[in-house]
Amino acid sequence: MAPALRPCVFFDRDGVVNRSPGPGYVNHLADFHLLPGFADCVRAAAEKGLPAVVVTNQRGLARGLTPPEQLDAMHRHLRAELAREGLALLDLFVCPADDDAHPDRKPNPGMLRTAAKKHHLDLAKSWMVGDRESDVQTGRNAGVAATVLVDPGAEPTAATWRVPDMPACAALLREKL
Ligand SMILES: [Mg+2]
Repeated sequence: MAPALRPCVFFDRDGVVNRSPGPGYVNHLADFHLLPGFADCVRAAAEKGLPAVVVTNQRGLARGLTPPEQLDAMHRHLRAELAREGLALLDLFVCPADDDAHPDRKPNPGMLRTAAKKHHLDLAKSWMVGDRESDVQTGRNAGVAATVLVDPGAEPTAATWRVPDMPACAALLREKL
């Protein structure tokens, strides 16, 4: 019998896990600064029994701007910092493609679908957290239950919820997940 499906919380990376680089890329470990509140979001999800999965577009890889070994170092650092708090990611997916039509490049839902297949996740009961409207669209394209936009601005959004920062996201997850 196939294992039962379980929901998860998907997190975008830049602007959610770590400080946003703005329009550019985070190319080196020295520029990878974890945001206060991300670990607590992972904890809040875990408290409700939901694993955390990071899904990130990194076209700096395809463009030769982000050295792969630097990317690996960032993600080792991320996992080590979470482990210090007794936390872990279920998985982390990177889309290196420079082509907006690539099925894995957000807002296309390829990474979420791959994660769902690999880990028996229930997309229809999962959440997607991101700092851009394209993340919200990614969640909608994957058919998730709820989307969270982490953005202190006031532009219109299709997100289910909007919070100004990651500590507020953790509070939202505790209240609504
Ligand atoms: Mg982002």
